Parts: sequence; structure tokens; C-alpha cells
Amino acid sequence: MTTTTSSGVLAAYAGLGAHRLAAADPLLADLLEREHARQNETLAMVAASSSADPSVLACAGASISNVTTEGYPGARYHAGCELVDEVERLAVERARALFGARYANVQPHSGSTANQIVLCTLMKPGDTLLGMELSAGGHLTHGSPASVSGRFFHAVGYGTDADGLLDYGQVAELARRHRPKVIVCGASAYPRTVDFARFRRIADEVGAFLLADISHIAGLVAAGLHPSPVDHAHATTTSTYKQLYGPRGGLILLGRDADLPVPGTRRTLAQAIAHGTFPFLQGTPDLGAVAAKARAFDLAAQPEFHALAQRVVSGARELAEAFAGLGHTLVTGGTDNHMVLLDVGRRGLTGAIAESALADCGIVVNRNRIPGDPHGPRITSGVRFGTNTLALRGMGPVELRRCAALVDRVLTALVPHGEAGFALDPAVRSEVRGEVARLCREFPLPHHTP
Ligand SMILES: *Cc1c(COP(=O)(O)O)cnc(C)c1O
Repeated sequence: MTTTTSSGVLAAYAGLGAHRLAAADPLLADLLEREHARQNETLAMVAASSSADPSVLACAGASISNVTTEGYPGARYHAGCELVDEVERLAVERARALFGARYANVQPHSGSTANQIVLCTLMKPGDTLLGMELSAGGHLTHGSPASVSGRFFHAVGYGTDADGLLDYGQVAELARRHRPKVIVCGASAYPRTVDFARFRRIADEVGAFLLADISHIAGLVAAGLHPSPVDHAHATTTSTYKQLYGPRGGLILLGRDADLPVPGTRRTLAQAIAHGTFPFLQGTPDLGAVAAKARAFDLAAQPEFHALAQRVVSGARELAEAFAGLGHTLVTGGTDNHMVLLDVGRRGLTGAIAESALADCGIVVNRNRIPGDPHGPRITSGVRFGTNTLALRGMGPVELRRCAALVDRVLTALVPHGEAGFALDPAVRSEVRGEVARLCREFPLPHHTP
């Protein structure tokens, strides 16, 4: 280990950078400053988002990202990597400890890339992949024809039952019929617990690899508030900027099967994933992002993070109960995680209309398709809410009820108008905007305004 005292040069350098930007490029600096303010002045309820600690962002923006190299710690293709090797080893060790994993790869540039790495490592073009349908809550990378995962592989999709709950019987039947090489579980829009052990039993029955994608719930898994897939799945992937409050990027974890030989190769699963990341799918790692992941993993191991994750879950439950109490329809009837999915089609609205009306009032959400949705992904009949950022602001049950009431105020006052438009009573708009501003002032993003 190198010296553990800090000289303060990072802070000075970052400050110098910000000053130079403001002086040399005021147009860009102004946009970045306004975006910084916007994040604090709006209620972010996008389920896929969170807000990284400034120490995480400091790592991502530090000069370590100047380092160009390929390969892994101790086995690089460039000189001068002694310190970045220590940083990457630290990130790997922290990821393994946080998730109880035997192997971690911190180089994937994103969650999508992490999935592509696993799929391309375990399958050949044309092999069969069984994943959750995009329209049922799955992700593009789980076999959608809009992504390489659905174009280069033969993708078969499973869905949910009429209540929006995972239909494990259907998954097993499709697995028996199509004999996939890989089964993907995990979702982008599924408010309930995923039974990873059950998915593994299905995978074992047909000799498939199981990939668990925990991009949305990684923080709950790390905090022990959602069952961990790490020893059930052959490989687990996640984005690091969602519920881990980390930098943009991805992570691949392996559990008890890390040393399993991969058929048709001379590699173990861990060796195959390392090779699949570099050189197969990626080139140089972003070492600023790797450092920022190390920082985020350390924060996620702290007792404060556990309390935050508990607020995320209890806040979502509160939000769901409040919506239900106000007469709204919830997909699956409630939530087990950070996410609430509202069916707004029943109110004669579309997700797109609800999304823009809420945004107009300072509440940032995203439209989402729901089971049986008659609309496509641009319109949709659903709205997805998440509590990651509200919980980070320190909001508890009382505030989540206030948020639900504000959303309800907007949705019930909306009058559809014209083709895809709507009209919102200006009095309601200004009332909700005022209340959003008050909530944001009362519960500012931590450290956002120095
Ligand atoms: C967000 C998400 C991803 C993709 O992550 P990116 O970092 O945006 O590429 C993959 N899988 C699921 C389930 C996600 O929700």
C-alpha cells in the first residue's frame, strides 16, 4: 500500500478545472451549473436514477482517467500502471466483499456492456437466449430485437401473468421447449422480488447458464434487503450508477460457479468473463470510473447505506399504499423494492401525457409500458416511480405521502387535450410547483450546495 495521507492536490486541481471551464467556456459551464441546480430543485423519481456522492464524482473526474492501458492488474500491456493496478484491485476487493462474490470485474463501461460481455462469452451467434420481454419489464439487452442481444442470438421472451407477476411456470415451459443456452432474469420494470433460486432450478433442468441482471436492485441486494443472486446465477451483472449511487458503469460478479469449466473452452467461468471483457468486447478501461466504483462500493458497505436502503424500500411501500388509497391502479398491486408502477391508462391518460405534465410541475418520472399495454414504448399506459433519490434526500413516510398526493393532484386535474396533449389548470400547476420547491428546500440533496 502507498501512503494514506492526502495532500489536497485533488481538490485544488478539480477547483482549477472548474474555474478554467467557467472562464474559457461560459456557455458549457452555464449548462452544467443549471443542470446541477435542476437536480436539487426537482423531485427525481426516475427509478433508474440516483445521485452520486461528490467523492464518487471526484474520482470519476480525477486525472487517473488520463491513464491508458489494457489488461488487468499485474498483467497490463503498458508500463506505469502500478498505482492504477492498486486502484483496480481495491475496486475488485470491495465489490467482492460487498456482494460476497468470488470474482468481480469492474471494467465494463455500462450495464448494457456487462450483459453483452456475459452473453457473448457464453453463447455463439444464433444460440438461444431466454429473457424477460421488454414489454413485460425486461431490458433491451435481454433479447429485444432493437438490441444486438435479439439480433445476434435467437431470443425467446417470457412475460408476466395478468397481474404483472412473473410466471415461473411459463419460464420453465419455454426453457424446456427452446433449450436456451442462457436464461436471463432481472428486470427494468418489475416491482416485486425475483426468485433467483427458482430460476436456477429451471436453468439446471435444461442445462442453461443463468444470468441475473440486478441493475435496478443492486443496492437492496448489497444491503441484504433483497435475496442475492450471486451464488444462484452463473453470472450477475449490474449498472453502478442506479441503486449503488456510483459512477456510470457496469459490474460483473461471479459466485460459487466462478471456477466452473466453460464447455468448449479451456477456461473457467472467471477466466472466460475476464477474456470476454478484454479483449473480446472492450478495450481500455475507464480508470476514473473504476476509482469511482471503488469509492461507491466502500460507501455501500457503511451502516448509513443500510439505513438508506431501508428508507428506499419503506418509502416505495408508503408511496404504493398512498397511491392505492387515492384510487390509483398499481401493477402487481404494490411493491417489494424501490419501484412503483402505475397504470394510468385506466384513467384515460397515457404514460407520455402523465410524464410531461408531472415534469411541468417539477416531478421527474418516466413513462413505462405495463402488461398488456396497447401503446408502444413512446406513449405507454404506465408511469414508473422510484425512491432512490428521495430516500437519499432523507425523505421518510410522511414526505412520500406528500409526494404521492402531489402526483395525484396533477393526474386527477389533467384534461387530455388534442392528439397527444393535455391541459393542466394553471392554479394546480403553480400550487404543485410551490409544494415541490418547498419539499426540495426542506430535503436538499446531501452536499449538493457546498
Ligand atoms: C439500466 C439497465 C441496464 C443497462 O444499463 P446501462 O448502464 O444503461 O447500459 C441493464 N439491465 C437492466 C435491467 C437495467 O435496468
